[in-house]
Amino acid sequence: MKFEVLTIFPEIIECYIKHGVLGKALNKGIVEVKVYNLRDFTSDKHKKVDDYPYGGGAGMVMQIEPFYNAIMHLKADEKPRKLVLLSPQGRKFTQKLAQKFMEESKAMVLICGRYEGIDERVKAFVDEEVSIGDYVLSGGELAALVIIDSVVRLIPGALGDELSAVEDSFMKGFLDYPHYTRPEDFKGMKVPEVLLSGDHKKIALWRKRQALKNTLKNRPDLLKNLSPEDMRILKELC
Ligand code: SAM
Repeated sequence: MKFEVLTIFPEIIECYIKHGVLGKALNKGIVEVKVYNLRDFTSDKHKKVDDYPYGGGAGMVMQIEPFYNAIMHLKADEKPRKLVLLSPQGRKFTQKLAQKFMEESKAMVLICGRYEGIDERVKAFVDEEVSIGDYVLSGGELAALVIIDSVVRLIPGALGDELSAVEDSFMKGFLDYPHYTRPEDFKGMKVPEVLLSGDHKKIALWRKRQALKNTLKNRPDLLKNLSPEDMRILKELC
């Protein structure tokens, strides 16, 4: 899968992607990330990408021209790609949408705004507007990284142990179960005995109960469309 990022701060993206799961996926060739500096697509001799807002008001607005030039440059190879504008006004990004992007898009362009946002007319050249949550960031770079990271985790072969993505929060409609590692006893806080029992059936049931309990406590809104077995466990917990 290929990601192309349009930003005025390429180094933010370039630094993050070198590490951990993403870095390994890049090295394995499972994913490709190309970062473009928007300033390379401006015709202004000072490489200016913003200007004052029509109608007045606070802050600066990113001009359409550099985005248009960059998009046309990318599209010149005529390969299909999904163009995503990162914006707090977009469709909310979820694990389900990450899965959809992974399954349906071989290439994505992530367009990062700054300042007060981007000239509205850029929307005529994108496929989707996506928000990573109901809060306002100073720029789209973190949003681009959130999308790249969560989508790459879902690409077969990107994780060392593929099961770890399947067991993650949201994948089955509820949150993950609690995890423990050595030491067995930390200042009197003990690892639950069942995890030391070696009884895999009991461990699986304990984990399912803990996952449902955790979800009921923190995210009851997720508890829809449960299987009859999960419903039975949930009723026991209530
Ligand atoms: N004035 C805009 C508004 O209130 O809708 C916010 C502009 S924000 C300061 C600058 C840029 O950060 C946006 O153009 C967008 O690319 C990015 N951004 C901020 N919050 C975001 C979010 N929740 N999801 C995705 N991108 C976001």
